Amino acid sequence: MLKDIFIGLSKNQLMTTAAKKYGLKLGAQTVVAGTTVEATIKSIRELNSIGISATVDNLGEYVIDREEALKAKATILEVIESIHANGLDAHVSLKPTQLGLDIDYDFCYENLHEIVSAASKYDMHINIDMEDYGHLDPSFELMETLLKEYNNVGTVIQAYFERAQDDIEKYKDLRLRIVKGAYKEPVEIAYQMREDIDENFIKLIKYHLLHGKFTSIATHDHQIINQVKEFVKENNISYDKFEFQMLYGFRKDMQIELAKQGYNFCTYVPFGDDWYAYFMRRLAERPQNLNLILKQVFNKRTNTAIGIFAGTFALGRLTAKKRK
Ligand SMILES: Cc1cc2nc3c(=O)[nH]c(=O)nc-3n(C[C@H](O)[C@H](O)[C@H](O)COP(=O)(O)OP(=O)(O)OC[C@H]3O[C@@H](n4cnc5c(N)ncnc54)[C@H](O)[C@@H]3O)c2cc1C
Repeated sequence: MLKDIFIGLSKNQLMTTAAKKYGLKLGAQTVVAGTTVEATIKSIRELNSIGISATVDNLGEYVIDREEALKAKATILEVIESIHANGLDAHVSLKPTQLGLDIDYDFCYENLHEIVSAASKYDMHINIDMEDYGHLDPSFELMETLLKEYNNVGTVIQAYFERAQDDIEKYKDLRLRIVKGAYKEPVEIAYQMREDIDENFIKLIKYHLLHGKFTSIATHDHQIINQVKEFVKENNISYDKFEFQMLYGFRKDMQIELAKQGYNFCTYVPFGDDWYAYFMRRLAERPQNLNLILKQVFNKRTNTAIGIFAGTFALGRLTAKKRK
């Protein structure tokens, strides 16, 4: 129920516009690295200093305006140059709908091509994040076309999809990130029960660890992480064949601990002013994150959901007033 509310809020255009205008609010600053490239570079440097690499995401999705898509491309190119100029251990994650997939396929491809080409000069990896089911096949197609020319591209396999095993077999020779899946998908195509998703998730991870090129295991779930640790030990899988990934601001202690234990660790670092939908999805995944975020913001144990809802609606009302 809360999940549906947050997914609903994540698609609210009014709120998205307000969020861009009023900067990081509602506790988003705990899970978004900043609104500028400069601030983000500083966060990546801090992560690198404790042995953690980064995959950087310029926040934004479902763009329907060409200018906005071109602006996003320019920012991503700036990120690539800044990562290289600062000698950072980082690469880029991006979303096709931010680069114009909903506007025109060829326009999106041109934008992606420019980015992948720029990154390839520095041997930098570009990860194509996976969005909702409607964008799955076009995103795979974009990737396949890019792979004809470049080898610094990979993508994401979402374990809640029943077709995920076929996709992972098809793309096993790539660097793949495996996740549970973040969007609301229909029962006809996606597992809905947590146990079913977890079972498929671990099955896919094991498959790619044994047969794939390089596996990014992206989860905050300690039970999954423990199973992976056991599996790599039992199967003598070398540590340079995989990494763990988590989102910026979540389970920080565990991120540091895994890096200290000698595992490759990569933090997903989102930044930019288009933070609202991303932030709401994180709350949808795990409404308890409200607690974690509010504790960090207010540094006390009170005010759970009420605080964030009050903030959300206050921001909404502020925008409504401005629009009148
Ligand atoms: C690096 C990264 C990249 C991603 N990229 C994509 C993508 O491209 N496409 C996509 O659809 N999805 C993506 N996701 C989101 C992913 O699909 C899941 O929705 C999200 O990670 C939540 O699932 P989970 O595996 O972390 O664990 P959950 O199923 O949310 O949680 C399982 C258990 O882990 C523990 N736990 C989880 N979070 C916390 C916490 N913050 N603090 C303490 N305990 C916790 C709890 O015990 C919880 O019950 C990405 C996730 C990560 C980490």
